[in-house]
Amino acid sequence: MKKLPEACRPEAASPPELHTRSLLGLHAASVTVECHIGSGLPHTTIVGLPDGAVREARDRVRSAIINSGFNYPDGAVVINLAPGSLTKSSAALDLPIALAVLSADRQIPGTSLKHFEFLGELGLFGELRKVSGSLTCALASQSADRVLIVPAANRDEAQIAPVGAMLLADSLLAVTSYLTQTQKQQVTNSTLPAGMSAPASIQNLVTPLTRQNQTPQLHQIVGQEAAKRALTIAAAGGHHLLMVGPPGTGKTMLARSFANLLPLLTDTQALECAAVYSAAGLPRQNYRLAPFRDPHHSASAPALMGGGNPPQPGEVALSHHGVLFLDELPHFKPSALDLLREPIETGSAVITRARYKVTYPCRFQLIAAMNPCPAGRICREDNCRCTPTQVQRYQSRISGPLLDRIDIQVQVPALEQELLTRLDNKQPSDTTKTLQACVAKARHTQQMRQGCINALLSGEQLDTEIARAQLDDKFLQQAIQRFDLSARSYHKIWRIARSIADLAESQDIRLSDITEALSYRGLDWENNLR
Ligand SMILES: [Zn+2]
Repeated sequence: MKKLPEACRPEAASPPELHTRSLLGLHAASVTVECHIGSGLPHTTIVGLPDGAVREARDRVRSAIINSGFNYPDGAVVINLAPGSLTKSSAALDLPIALAVLSADRQIPGTSLKHFEFLGELGLFGELRKVSGSLTCALASQSADRVLIVPAANRDEAQIAPVGAMLLADSLLAVTSYLTQTQKQQVTNSTLPAGMSAPASIQNLVTPLTRQNQTPQLHQIVGQEAAKRALTIAAAGGHHLLMVGPPGTGKTMLARSFANLLPLLTDTQALECAAVYSAAGLPRQNYRLAPFRDPHHSASAPALMGGGNPPQPGEVALSHHGVLFLDELPHFKPSALDLLREPIETGSAVITRARYKVTYPCRFQLIAAMNPCPAGRICREDNCRCTPTQVQRYQSRISGPLLDRIDIQVQVPALEQELLTRLDNKQPSDTTKTLQACVAKARHTQQMRQGCINALLSGEQLDTEIARAQLDDKFLQQAIQRFDLSARSYHKIWRIARSIADLAESQDIRLSDITEALSYRGLDWENNLR
């Protein structure tokens, strides 16, 4: 019988394979790391990584292995990251590459590797550094029935992950001693060596989640009752809102306090938000709070929408389930603002590049603010020095289609000095706590009735509401004519009215709800809002 070549012999053991993940958007793709050590001049080749990253990973891994007390193999080391077609971010692959080298060189046992996935950037002395996207990767590892080992610096994300999905390690040495130990014992029952820990899950803790106190509360803002009412309605139904008013009338304060009105995130929402922040490598103070993002008006389109290589989530994704606040709206680049239309409509931001397409979720609430005229600070309401052309050019920086998508538009006028002193806390408006409770109740009613917030009501669902309300047709016809409503605006009026009715705990939409809703679409843009 002809002798088989070496590779085909049945006893030739396949080299141990290591599992890791690479993040593309919010998708954690499975990546395997293989290592082969052959005879030849000492040299390390990594295939499957972009050119520049190869040298960096190679040097870090080599130093980390030697400084952790192991030997770096002398022969020709070939490391393969599969699948080759996938774009990989390199740094997080340091740990799996180092382990593949050590296992191929039989310095650590290869048998227990199949129960784990690894993620971590190595320092030159074997210490593990924080990586982004560990939460998303952990969820994917768990569904593949493996435990993800990540740097201890990723503790925040590990605490939100399901129990048992992640293990934390502070160095390469801690991981290797754990792997050596688990080979001898049952994986599940093994105790953790020094430098390794299991994250304490905060998911099931019953401690009350306190809101941050540094954010302004709505009831601390004097006056502006109309704006507060509009914000409460926006919070109740998830509607987008624009505030127009001169500088110094508290628009920014109002917007910041708006986030306080929103209910705490549900488990699913909190996990979705955490995944986006994890992918961006950003920390979150309290993962139950609705996110609040306020990008500067100089923000570029990629900063708003997401982009880069590897792709990073932008502001629209970072405000998922929360608030995207755009102050000084007309100062944003019109091209960047126009890009917002799609995420507002679809609830997702799509980034397309030659080699990949990434989708980030972005169901945010847009809160925008602007001055009525370009000179803002110098002009008084009754004494504007800007020419009509200047004002028109300024206001036209916001496109009609974008404006049409902002459900509620409200004026925030300058307060007269007399009003400021008269109010002086003698007539306190509703406290934030009361409003929070009203908003939470209204949102609960919506979930029970239709399974979504009012802002997302479909045309069919609205038709049912409209039929049930049995309002005077003549009045509605007049309103459509007088306000020159598009079909989109007409539906928006009903959605806002539904939220007003929910706040009043009314089962059907009443005429007064419609008239109030109409008042939030009635800004006089033709006469330049002055
Ligand atoms: Zn002016």
